[in-house]
Amino acid sequence: MSKQSPLLEQVLCWLGFHDFKVIERTFGFGAAGGVEKVECQRCGVVVTRGI
Ligand SMILES: [Zn+2]
Repeated sequence: MSKQSPLLEQVLCWLGFHDFKVIERTFGFGAAGGVEKVECQRCGVVVTRGI
């Protein structure tokens, strides 16, 4: 588990510094590009972003 304090982790997430882990990756074709779905292991937010 993490060595950081829960409060510090919460603050980091508030500031947008999430601890993302890739949970799904989709490779695009041609000019479409791919996307990956990442989840913060601390607060659980899920974000889809281009790769
Ligand atoms: Zn987070």
